[in-house]
Amino acid sequence: MHRPELLIPAGNLEKLRTALLYGADAVYVGVEGLSLRASSSEMSMTDLAAGVWEAHAKGAKVYAAANTFARNTDLQRAKKIIPEVAQVGVDALIVSEPGMLKLARNLAPQLPIHLSTQANTTNIEAVHFWKEQGVRRIVLARELNLKEVGEIASAVPEMELEIFIHGAMCMAYSGRCYLSAFRNRRSANEGDCSQPCRWEYKLYESTRPDDPLILQEDDHYSYLLSSKDLCIIEYLPEVLASGVASLKIEGRMKSAYYVAVVTRTYRQALNALMREKENDQCRREWIDELETVSNRGYTTGFAFAEEKINETNPDIKYVQTHEPAGIVLKYDPSRKRMLIGVRNHLVAGNEIELLLPDKTISIDTSTFIDVNGKMLSEANNDNQIYLPLENEAPVGAVLRQKVK
Ligand code: SF4
Repeated sequence: MHRPELLIPAGNLEKLRTALLYGADAVYVGVEGLSLRASSSEMSMTDLAAGVWEAHAKGAKVYAAANTFARNTDLQRAKKIIPEVAQVGVDALIVSEPGMLKLARNLAPQLPIHLSTQANTTNIEAVHFWKEQGVRRIVLARELNLKEVGEIASAVPEMELEIFIHGAMCMAYSGRCYLSAFRNRRSANEGDCSQPCRWEYKLYESTRPDDPLILQEDDHYSYLLSSKDLCIIEYLPEVLASGVASLKIEGRMKSAYYVAVVTRTYRQALNALMREKENDQCRREWIDELETVSNRGYTTGFAFAEEKINETNPDIKYVQTHEPAGIVLKYDPSRKRMLIGVRNHLVAGNEIELLLPDKTISIDTSTFIDVNGKMLSEANNDNQIYLPLENEAPVGAVLRQKVK
């Protein structure tokens, strides 16, 4: 069985480090001004250079996304940035349209090109076409099922194929959607989706504006346009059998906590699968872990779907069992304690867990001590506190607490 790459989203340098700590083989990052995500999840060139250096030191790869649908006015900036991206040593540039592909081929001919899922590649001939254009890897359209993915992998074995295995799904075809631009003047196609498909809607009849048809049960509204999130952890053997080279997690705008949990869980599952080929059962603990991060209920998406319809979850908005509590900034071996950057409202005595790459540890929270040595009964976002820990914790390790 071949060993596929586990590819993790890294919205900033901290999340890149989180992904590396918890077992990513590769990360993908936004390039300032050119990626298909809002500027909050793009990296400066300085951070990108640092991230590439750190990833390569750990044997991991960094792919830079320049997958906006470039307009004429974007081209000058692209001409400036593409050589800089190549210069800092990224392992590939992700593009989604022919203009950016042509620019990259001309300005950085040595830089491998990955074609974004935004290009909606759905068949063997399209893969041949992009191969002739010099594309090294294709992120296939999310709408393909695993049978179709396997057919493409067999027909064009020289092309690296990447598919999404986890994360949010659009109701629109591979994200080509105008709902956010229409409702909120924020275009999904320019990386700025405000996700109005997940908002609460009521249906009004024009002649009876005071009598809305509320599509709900109990105290929930209906989220008719909003897809469940993709999760294929139970079917990794089938995914690997399809022959894909890279397994991609969605979520460059999600938290470091999400990155930690999802990376660690899929890393453990893939390692177990590679190790114990005859015993490839999905473990309940992996599914439970993925329930700890914010999700809208899970679906296998189109992986096995005969009919091409996405699956919604009208009864829930978001669910999660845990939320971020903090991140390890430093470990003090002489006093056996770790300095935590708090990422929530924490109350002394409440249960907090530390996520290490290979296990989860319950932390003694009976006393919080701030950097001045003062005892606290609670701590808030951006505070720094000490918590006891017998053995060293790596910097960047993530802590969590139960959702109240
Ligand atoms: S509004 Fe929803 S369907 Fe449209 S691009 Fe955003 S997430 Fe996708």
